[in-house]
Amino acid sequence: MSFISKLSKGIKGASQALQSDEYEINDAKIQCVHCGYQHFELGEAQLNTAGLTFLNLDWANESVSILACKKCSHIMWFAKPVKKVI
Ligand SMILES: [Zn+2]
Repeated sequence: MSFISKLSKGIKGASQALQSDEYEINDAKIQCVHCGYQHFELGEAQLNTAGLTFLNLDWANESVSILACKKCSHIMWFAKPVKKVI
């Protein structure tokens, strides 16, 4: 199984209905780098150790956050958990 297909198998919760769909990280609100929209679908991916070692991201071994823009569908990845803006 390729690394990419492992990733997509690990992605979960992307279609969950959530109360808030705005997020922040390091106290900075996240906005789409492509269109500037601030509403996202949040997904999570578990990355295995082999993949993370390849990317030299062992400190982020648990999971990564995936935000898909609800307007233009651009997907952004964060190696740390993002915080939901309430
Ligand atoms: Zn966008």
